[in-house]
Amino acid sequence: MKLSKQLFVTLREAPSDAEVASHTLMLRAGFVQSLGAGIYVYGPMLYRVLRRIEDIVRDEHDKADCSEMLMPALQPRSLWDESGRWERYVNDGILFNFKDRKGAEVCLGPTHEEVITTYVKSLVQSYKQLPVTLYQIQTKFRDEIRPRFGLMRGREFIMKDAYSFDTSEEAMVESYKTMRQVYRNIFTRCGLGFTPVEADSGAIGGSGSEEFMVDADTGEDGIAVCRATDYAANLEKAVSQIPTPAACDSKVEMHKEQTPGATTCDALLELFPELPMSRLLKTILYHVVYDTEAIAAATGTDVGEVASEGVVAVMCRGDRELNEIKLSNHLNALKLELASEDEVKTATGADVGYAGPIGLADHVRLLADESVNDVEGFLCGGNESGTHYLDVHFGRDIDQPETVDFGTVQEGDLMLGAGTGDIPADATIEITRGIEVGHIFQLGTKYSEAMDAKFLDVDQKQKPIWMGCYGIGVSRVAASAIEQNHDDAGMIWPLEIAPYAALIVQMKVGDEAQDALCQKLNDDLEAAGIDVLWDERKKVRPGAKFKDADLIGIPMRIVVGRDAADDQVEWSPRTDEYGTKEVIASGDATSRIIDACAKAGR
Ligand code: ATP
Ligand code: MG
Repeated sequence: MKLSKQLFVTLREAPSDAEVASHTLMLRAGFVQSLGAGIYVYGPMLYRVLRRIEDIVRDEHDKADCSEMLMPALQPRSLWDESGRWERYVNDGILFNFKDRKGAEVCLGPTHEEVITTYVKSLVQSYKQLPVTLYQIQTKFRDEIRPRFGLMRGREFIMKDAYSFDTSEEAMVESYKTMRQVYRNIFTRCGLGFTPVEADSGAIGGSGSEEFMVDADTGEDGIAVCRATDYAANLEKAVSQIPTPAACDSKVEMHKEQTPGATTCDALLELFPELPMSRLLKTILYHVVYDTEAIAAATGTDVGEVASEGVVAVMCRGDRELNEIKLSNHLNALKLELASEDEVKTATGADVGYAGPIGLADHVRLLADESVNDVEGFLCGGNESGTHYLDVHFGRDIDQPETVDFGTVQEGDLMLGAGTGDIPADATIEITRGIEVGHIFQLGTKYSEAMDAKFLDVDQKQKPIWMGCYGIGVSRVAASAIEQNHDDAGMIWPLEIAPYAALIVQMKVGDEAQDALCQKLNDDLEAAGIDVLWDERKKVRPGAKFKDADLIGIPMRIVVGRDAADDQVEWSPRTDEYGTKEVIASGDATSRIIDACAKAGR
């Protein structure tokens, strides 16, 4: 392919709102163009990358007997009412929903559990038709709160989503394991370094789930990793051993301290420098919108009797952080946000910063993170502006509230169970970062029960189908490949998914020997089935061609210049993986490229 035939325009600088390398470099190289927040045009170069990723995704799914199909992006509300997810998604603000001309409500699919369940239930009658796994590669729509980092978090993006259907829980787990292997194969074939981690199931629901994280410092997700045990979990879900709190010998009576202006742990420590951080208990107030249907179902009460909103106060040790995902899951919350100043005032009688467990208004539900266990003689808010209580003891001064694990794992924590079984006593946790490129879930019968998707089992009984669902952010994979592989000059594509396998840079277009040799290289490579890009732009100087070559990062490069008459070229790969610069015979360059592509399965 001749470069002059493409609308190839590069920019020296990227717009200032591009914060991460993949976004900056894709904008500069014309791989994407922004049309609005989180909306992008995928240029021809990027589209080649996306198609390569899709080919790998298809190949691995097809090998595992999954069937490709395509569902509509436009989905009627009625399906989402059946699954009970409409309210949650609308409350989250994630759903692009609107009314059609007849007044019927529709949405643009953020995910397809509802559609696939409807499709499958109309076709499956008997256990004899199962198991089956279906997948599609399609555009998804999510009105993200913070669309950013380019293709990493778009409002319109390409996803591969697959759904498995089984007759029993054990069979569902088998399908899940197969897909886990499919995912490992896909990300390995894409040339990416990745870590599978235990994950929170989020709004999709279900029992078990794992995410596939591309290792990258710029990743939005924190991951808790324990090298000694191979444990890896998203911080949203990770658990650890909470360090023992500092002991307290004093049994002084609880008393009120004047603490005007001290509304943070750090400010309080300045007032009480002797007090260890672990004996400082913070109390954080949240406004919660409850998932009334889920609560009614779980507690066996009438939906009408379940409160739809409320204020919850959560205690946590000063040296630990709350985890709002764990909290939200425990509360069955549709929405969880910090309480407003007015709500804090009504609940505590004080300004923000002085909330505590003693004397909270009756309507406030008090909970605590497990970190408060065994803390004695602590400091907590006085529920009066400018005051805190000191030397408070659970059991003596107040009842200890219900404690649950609402904590965030911290670097250096010991593994849960360290020193027991075969977990070494010094098994500690490290925090790394990653980009979530895939997520697999065991859904169980959540959707099949809600949407009445049943099959007739061997025992002649009607049973709900066991489901799994499996997503890959195809466009996010492209971005994460750049996050993982780039330098100051530009992208460095893994050969497996690069827009082209090889680039021919011609120094002087119009020079007879160079024209002829480039043409021959191009034809030989194309004849061998290699996709090659030939930079034969006339008016562009060699320096600019080299800069562009670095920017677009095609892994193998041949420079055709003065030595063309002797059938010699410069082998000038973008990465050390294919060697360093050297002058070689043109035929050798061709065979190196053919060999490398064969090895990479390209
Ligand atoms: P995130 O936590 O990053 O918002 P998610 O957990 O909501 O993602 P899933 O519902 O698990 O996403 O979707 C499956 C995959 O789709 C994700 O693993 C990710 O690779 C991709 N994906 C999700 N949201 C986006 C987005 N806004 N832009 C690009 N890719 C996305
Ligand atoms: Mg996810």
